[in-house]
Amino acid sequence: MEKKAFVTKEKVQEIAAKYPTPFYLYDEKGIRENAKKVYEAFSWNKGFKEYFAVKACPNTFIINILKEYGCGVDCASKAELMLAHALGFGEGEIMFSSNVTPAEEYIYAREIGATINLDDFTHIEFLDSLTGIPETISCRFNPGGYFSIANTIMDNPQDAKYGFTKEQIIEGFKILKSKGAKNFGIHAFLASNTVTNEYYPELARQLFKLAVELRDETGCDIRFINLSGGVGIPYKPDGEPNDIMKIAEGVHKVYDEVLTAAGMGDVAIYTEMGRFMMGPYGALVTKCIHQKHIYKEYIGCDACAANLMRPAIYDAYHHITVLGKENEPCDHKYDVTGSLCENSDKFAKDRMLPKIDIGDYLFIHDAGAHGFSMGYNYNGKLWSSEILLKEDGNFNLIRRAETPKDYFATFDCFDILDSILKE
Ligand SMILES: *Cc1c(COP(=O)(O)O)cnc(C)c1O
Repeated sequence: MEKKAFVTKEKVQEIAAKYPTPFYLYDEKGIRENAKKVYEAFSWNKGFKEYFAVKACPNTFIINILKEYGCGVDCASKAELMLAHALGFGEGEIMFSSNVTPAEEYIYAREIGATINLDDFTHIEFLDSLTGIPETISCRFNPGGYFSIANTIMDNPQDAKYGFTKEQIIEGFKILKSKGAKNFGIHAFLASNTVTNEYYPELARQLFKLAVELRDETGCDIRFINLSGGVGIPYKPDGEPNDIMKIAEGVHKVYDEVLTAAGMGDVAIYTEMGRFMMGPYGALVTKCIHQKHIYKEYIGCDACAANLMRPAIYDAYHHITVLGKENEPCDHKYDVTGSLCENSDKFAKDRMLPKIDIGDYLFIHDAGAHGFSMGYNYNGKLWSSEILLKEDGNFNLIRRAETPKDYFATFDCFDILDSILKE
């Protein structure tokens, strides 16, 4: 499938005149259509709720859009919880799926009414000693071994640091019940960025069977099953996108087969998707500011891996459109680079693209999730702005670019800050 930028060169020129590149651009129309579809797809399940994984795109304006469709939030740190609380998410709307959780974060999570999803057996005692056990509690499951779909290994949970073993979750539920828990949830995240409609149904089958077993063995009232994240997007143009309708149908079928058949037809399905909710609807827009001709041809951009680290750390593919040259032949081979003193700072290697000129705008696709949020300040590089392209074609700044003052702010307890900022 051809990948098309959701914005034209002319519009980017207009935006860049006001907010210089690099910037993240988000597509409000795409975000809305997709969120609506997710809720339609799972409408067969009365209690369905998507808890958007905040880490994927922790922007208040974006999260507020998702909130309109009924999304809650999935948090894993105090700062994420603070954001959720400030945006008005309350009881039943915040999932706290943390791990290696500091004491103060559990305390704060309880204060704001977040649902706690315990990552480990020892955290039962830990949480109990801090706040007591809440009436509603969830536990994260790790089945060990390999997770496969139709003979294809998707991931190996045995090497993952997360979750309770089978024995621990059975024992854990008994203990939690004895300490006053009444409403139970089960959670698992067994494979990341799955581009198949079979991931959720297969995961669901395992969790649904576990739910029946847990009810039978412990007598606990299982209220929700959280399929977590992991629904992927095709980063490459030849990839087939996931069909959320088919995915939800697949889960529905297994739900009837396993849960309804066992008299558990009132269990709510929760998801914690990040990438699927936002990935395709955000792009990093950067300008070509240099060209270099040595043993290879290099395009130098005003963005770098500090703005989008996925290519540098995962060797991830991100499609690039040279805006205004959508219909020109891709007859030039380039490495597209940023300015970090790190050779891994390349958005693309040996990529066939149209001839690029200085001043051209590059649209780096599928950066809406785990893009901006994974940014960092290496080499003194500053965080870019974030801009929302609205449905009506207008655009709004939704986060300003970082300035040197922000970057040096943590020296504010020393005299040096003033001298730096005077420079
Ligand atoms: C990261 C994460 C998610 C979101 O994952 P995606 O791959 O973006 O869907 C959901 N739940 C938990 C606990 C996570 O750590």
